[in-house]
Amino acid sequence: MMMKQVELVRPRVFALRQVPRPKPAPNEALIRVKAVGICGSDIHAYYGEHPFMSCPIVMGHEAAGEIVELGAEAAGLSVGQRVVLRPQQVCGACHMCRHGRYNICRDLKVIGCQSTGASSEYFSADASLFYPLPDALPYDEGTMIEPLAVGIHAVKQAGDVRGKNILVIGAGTIGNLLAQSAMAMGAAKVMITDVADQKLRLARQCGIPCPVNVAGQDLSRAMEEAFGPDGADAVYECSANPRALDQILTLARKGIPIVVVGVYSGHAPVNLANLQDREYRLIGSLMYVHEDYVQAIELAGAGKIQLRPLISREFPLEQAQEAYRYIEAQKGLAQKVILTV
Ligand SMILES: [Zn+2]
Ligand SMILES: [Zn+2]
Repeated sequence: MMMKQVELVRPRVFALRQVPRPKPAPNEALIRVKAVGICGSDIHAYYGEHPFMSCPIVMGHEAAGEIVELGAEAAGLSVGQRVVLRPQQVCGACHMCRHGRYNICRDLKVIGCQSTGASSEYFSADASLFYPLPDALPYDEGTMIEPLAVGIHAVKQAGDVRGKNILVIGAGTIGNLLAQSAMAMGAAKVMITDVADQKLRLARQCGIPCPVNVAGQDLSRAMEEAFGPDGADAVYECSANPRALDQILTLARKGIPIVVVGVYSGHAPVNLANLQDREYRLIGSLMYVHEDYVQAIELAGAGKIQLRPLISREFPLEQAQEAYRYIEAQKGLAQKVILTV
């Protein structure tokens, strides 16, 4: 049997193909894909600017669908179940894998980035990578469990945020979901900054209490107004703008954790003398592990995270080319664009 599949054959050019429908291996589950989210990394690959993704590639790592067939050894799932994908293939043997940190596996392959993704009618992967999707969440919102888990994993990198004042720099999808996660996880107050009013309006719509446009407002003063003289207790850098990181190293309260979530496209020129002198803890954050996925599904299923406002537009899978042209035309202001299958 054949199925539709969309491949990025070279930068900016997609091909819609008929390919054989995959047969699940004994350890795998086959899903009928229902929705696939387009991520920032997919957009970098579309422009031919992603350092670790190359054409031709079938993208799609934010996938939701219905299980239609199970391999003989695939346990814990049933046909007809609605699920979301955790798109990580790891070696299971390296030091990080042996210590539960397989999100930074030495041989990490992200499905849809370094191996074939889910931009197709059917998709098969190891059964352990599929998680039941609560009835309350439609498939399109289900695709956002993946970026939500990124936010939840990042929040925890600074420890327990209960009762803490949190600054999130950058109000794109990840920054927004990270800020909502911090609130759902008990933060006292959450401030989010950006230079685009549209993204800050959306942040407010999602219930993030303190959106601040740093193009027009002084960040130190805004922090003092929001948090009092002690400022933020932890900072999350989601803008991928090196100047924002450098600025935070000069004006955040001394001694606090600063978590880097944004993906820098080149060397970030920052003054590390401030890191030493002000005794910051600079912490990286990549993807998520199983527990973060479970928590993301719990929080979203309980209605504690607003996902719907983040969906800018949806296109049928066949119109992937149009979807990316739309994103291109929006010049960085589109939030989540979703392909429906
Ligand atoms: Zn993603
Ligand atoms: Zn490994």
